[in-house]
Amino acid sequence: MRPILNFVLFCDYSIIMEHVEKPLLFIDMDNVLVDFKSGLAKVSKEIKCQYELDDKGKPHYDDIPGIFALMEPMPGAIEAVKTLSTKYDLYILSTAPWMNPSAWSDKVKWVQQYFDSAQEDGVFYKRLILCHHKDLLIRPGAYLIDDRSKHGADQFGDHWIQMDSPRFPDWESVVKYLM
Ligand SMILES: [Mg+2]
Repeated sequence: MRPILNFVLFCDYSIIMEHVEKPLLFIDMDNVLVDFKSGLAKVSKEIKCQYELDDKGKPHYDDIPGIFALMEPMPGAIEAVKTLSTKYDLYILSTAPWMNPSAWSDKVKWVQQYFDSAQEDGVFYKRLILCHHKDLLIRPGAYLIDDRSKHGADQFGDHWIQMDSPRFPDWESVVKYLM
């Protein structure tokens, strides 16, 4: 009896959990993991002026070359990801501006920097999906945390967790719901 008892007492619970399938959880970047405004605040007035009006008369700051490299994480995002990774299989599911190629490379660099994901043990190592058709990723039981309904996010139905909404105003409320 003694050896069995020792195993139960000293076995690392996380090792057991690694072999149990976790539900999928997709997480958007802009204004969910990434604070877009923090990047914009670092851009000069002169450059901002050049991106104030697009064909439809709206600002298109996401087309500013290099802007995505300047952004900081949203408050609570890093801690929330750490917590959620214990229960969910996490992937980033984001779009990148079609006419701003630097945004695509800046996004992977950002994930590597803030989530130590240049290395295999990083939570998002090779787990970055850049796609304009998020609904293609819908799987039974899969959740998506996204601030906007665009690009098929709303097709996740009641598994779409809308960040920055009255129900989920911040990461604290999202973690409380999902854990
Ligand atoms: Mg977003």
